Amino acid sequence: MTTATAEIRALTAAAFRTPEKFTEFCRNGGKPLGGIVDGEQIAGSMNATFQTIDPGSQEVLATVCEMGEAEVARAVSAAQRAFHGDGGSSWRNADVEERIELVNRLVELCERDRDVLLACEIRDGGKVSELAEGDFTQIRACAEYFIGVARQIAMGDGPSLPVGNGVRGFTYREPWGVVAGIIPWNYPIVLTSWFMFPALLSGNTILIKPAEDTPLSALYIGKLAQEAGFPPGVINVLPGRGEITGQCIAEHPGVRFISFTGSPGVGQAILRTCDRHGTRMKREMGGNGSAIVLGDADPAVVARLIGRYTNQHFGQTCCTIHRIFVDRKIADDFTDAQTEFFKGLKIGYQADAGTQLGAVINPTQRRRILQAQQETVARGGRAILTGGEATVAGKNGFYIKPALYRTEPGLNINPQEVFHTYATICPVSSADEALQLANSSPYGLGASVWTKDVEKGIALARQFRDGTAQVNCHNSIAYGLPYGGQGISGGPGGGVNCEETFLDYTQVKAVYVADYPG
Ligand code: NDP
Repeated sequence: MTTATAEIRALTAAAFRTPEKFTEFCRNGGKPLGGIVDGEQIAGSMNATFQTIDPGSQEVLATVCEMGEAEVARAVSAAQRAFHGDGGSSWRNADVEERIELVNRLVELCERDRDVLLACEIRDGGKVSELAEGDFTQIRACAEYFIGVARQIAMGDGPSLPVGNGVRGFTYREPWGVVAGIIPWNYPIVLTSWFMFPALLSGNTILIKPAEDTPLSALYIGKLAQEAGFPPGVINVLPGRGEITGQCIAEHPGVRFISFTGSPGVGQAILRTCDRHGTRMKREMGGNGSAIVLGDADPAVVARLIGRYTNQHFGQTCCTIHRIFVDRKIADDFTDAQTEFFKGLKIGYQADAGTQLGAVINPTQRRRILQAQQETVARGGRAILTGGEATVAGKNGFYIKPALYRTEPGLNINPQEVFHTYATICPVSSADEALQLANSSPYGLGASVWTKDVEKGIALARQFRDGTAQVNCHNSIAYGLPYGGQGISGGPGGGVNCEETFLDYTQVKAVYVADYPG
């Protein structure tokens, strides 16, 4: 008989065949794929290119041109012209319904070319199909949510207030102008959508800097935007390395606002650059997610659910659970069930049917993860599953086995985000002790509590020092609720996916009007 316990499984790959249209796109008529600036594909004046690979096999998928200072400057000028209108219509003054029509057209084209975008996620991003397909649905979901918000939020003049002595005042809400999205490699389609739709619908023109490891989704979306009929300069895509292309974007004073998603260290460095010339910056950064399992929870069921969240995109998800605090009474049973789940994960190539744990994104990540596994033991963690390199027959990818450790309160064995299927289990004597340990991390992105007593769960969830607190679930994200981080996991602003996100892409000034003297 199938039990509920047996049904909980990790996200799994179906066999994926790469569509010819993706291969043609990557081949680009024998030329490296250029950036998209002012409605054209451009090669870049540095003559620098880089290769983007399939992390599960190291097959080169495409050669891409790196955009340098000159291309960033050209993109900013084009975006400024498109924003203000160059003697013609401007994006800034376009009716919101005009913007919505183009966004809807872009969504339709993405859906027409679903297989190509899935190939970008599965081949370039190393995802299993179940996850890639879920990510793909976010294009429409995100666009529709922000279309609704755009129709509701009043831009322009706010209501007038009497200020006294013949003076009145009112607010004026406007888009920033040129805004940039700096995107990490782990959720390219999702994070491009989360940036692009609110930024465009609020009237900004945009630069997208995709991650060096996964430039293909954004480049393909940029190509579709041209086909959709976005005016040149409204959407520009600038592939390249962070320290070159990303840095040039951060240094350009014409970029008024940057939305950054990535690691805290890089976010803090970009913030310092932005501060030098007054570019505003919103930061959504990494986490070291925690889960508290209370004594009334069924250890077998909850261990498998937590295992699934720990392994989402092979642990390369920002709010992944890495630190588990379990009531001492059930800690052994929980550990056994979690071990069984981790051991059962099928390691393989991400485009082969049945794979649940594929390759990590690049060799640097592999080195960092292996080092973190060793350090966990050096700090006093007892390895239950030791991790280490894995091999997959016929595939030269960056494969690593899952790692699981037992620890005790007081041992800080995993202080940093380890971006893999990696977790530590710490037995605790009370919910308060668990909460204090969970909240002791400088990160604060996602945490959850697992219990049959939902009211008790909610009371604990309110006390997490995290941007997202969940009861009996973990990676839930919904439009209308903010997704952001506290501590080093987030910067100012209202998180993403809510009304405040849309407002973050606008600025408000106060306008005072006095009667003419005399
Ligand atoms: P990084 O911080 O390394 O990079 C993020 C982006 O910044 C990339 O496009 C990168 O380019 C670019 N970049 C790097 N250096 C600079 C620089 N000096 N100036 C400007 N741009 C720069 O993050 P990862 O790509 O490794 O992504 C993983 C991280 O993202 C994890 O910490 C994860 O938790 C976090 N994340 C947070 C999310 C959230 O919503 N809170 C969601 C998803 C991920 P390049 O790729 O070329 O290095």
